[in-house]
Amino acid sequence: MQYISTRGSAPVLDFGGAMMTGLARDGGLYVPEHLPSFSKDEIAAMAGLSYEEIAFRVMRPFIGETFSDDEFKGLIAAAYQGFEHAARAPLKQLAPNHFLLELFHGPTLAFKDFAMQLIGQMMQAALAKSGKRITIVGATSGDTGSAAIEAFRGLSNVDVFILFPHGRVSEVQRRQMTTPSESNVHALALDGDFDDCQARLKDMFNHFEFRDAVGLAGVNSINWARVLAQVVYYFSSAVSLGAPHRTIDFTVPTGNFGDIYAGHIARSMGLTIGKLVIATNQNDILHRTLETGVYETRGVAPSMSPSMDIQVSSNFERLLFDVLDREGAAVADLMNDLKTTGKFTVPQGALEALRAGFASGRASEEETLATIGATLKASAELICPHGAVAVRVAEAHLGENPMVTLATAHPAKFPDAVEKASGIRPALPPRMADLFERPERVTRVPNDLAALEALVLETTGHNV
Ligand SMILES: *Cc1c(COP(=O)(O)O)cnc(C)c1O
Repeated sequence: MQYISTRGSAPVLDFGGAMMTGLARDGGLYVPEHLPSFSKDEIAAMAGLSYEEIAFRVMRPFIGETFSDDEFKGLIAAAYQGFEHAARAPLKQLAPNHFLLELFHGPTLAFKDFAMQLIGQMMQAALAKSGKRITIVGATSGDTGSAAIEAFRGLSNVDVFILFPHGRVSEVQRRQMTTPSESNVHALALDGDFDDCQARLKDMFNHFEFRDAVGLAGVNSINWARVLAQVVYYFSSAVSLGAPHRTIDFTVPTGNFGDIYAGHIARSMGLTIGKLVIATNQNDILHRTLETGVYETRGVAPSMSPSMDIQVSSNFERLLFDVLDREGAAVADLMNDLKTTGKFTVPQGALEALRAGFASGRASEEETLATIGATLKASAELICPHGAVAVRVAEAHLGENPMVTLATAHPAKFPDAVEKASGIRPALPPRMADLFERPERVTRVPNDLAALEALVLETTGHNV
């Protein structure tokens, strides 16, 4: 399978190439040239299989020659063996036709582990073959960073730098990034918000001398392999609830649009998904875009669901590419408008296609708190603020189809908000119980490309 850029003018790559490259050299994102699709019989045959087996069947057509079948099965098994639930992504029931998909049983307690654990395995396998050394730089609104560090800590051929917005992640999130003691792990607290972190990361990718000198690789959801790993749990959960014989709706707490875009891919591959509902917190650029057709950035207002405090939603570009009939030049024009004016207008036909496939809603801070309390009362489930945003929005979109709402993080990652809402302070799992006693190691960095590049070069011993 070949991968092409959403902006139409970067080299065509295979799966391994797209995974190691991250951002395309024309500034776009890699997507498969053609999507594989599954018949109803093939989907029906997934019922009752293990998560790992479904993962193999769903992802195999995308991998091409990068890994053999046996090798790929081994990587999948290694990726998910550290999850603390046999189902990996278990479903809980909230109401007669409303289900919660728990995606937080991995090592860092957020759904980012599903993709990062697998990418960690796949990149290691690819590096072992090539003998290369790489530098991973990631931007995080809180959960990607710890998941990446967990996946790459201690590896001899990888340095990991994580940019997080100083003062804007929860204490648990910060400590998960600053307490690993391995010398190849570097947590960087940037003076700015998540969008600044992501913008500096993209600047590094667009500075080719630097990119090539350090062997820059990306693990943000600009990396196609991240999206692919997230397609799997749409299949596993929908099949558990009766797909392909039933149509299932999903509501997804959304920031960078990676997770819900994976649902769009699953639907495009033949999975019987009805509505995909975008749930945002008060940083509601995607909800506004669907309502008005104008994608317009405003400042980020910190919320109690920090992993969704985002204005520039990278993966939305992949969806735009699809609804613009895969015209790379049209995507490049809109992205240029965004860069120069801070907004763009979605053309009418594309907007209609967006509205046909997606619904959206937003939850305020008060609504988020109230939903944590109400959900505990109604179903004895304690949910994190991100899940609460989604549950609140999902409740406004319940219909005939079963609704699956994605619970993206464990409540113990956000103990202050959860305690305020419910009176219960959720405890960390025993293996993390001493997180608050471990020493922290972090470097404060300015929101400045040259300074960041100098730091990465010096730490890794490279020159441009
Ligand atoms: C990253 C994250 C999100 C947002 O996911 P996107 O793929 O960026 O839309 C939501 N909830 C939690 C807990 C997260 O860590």
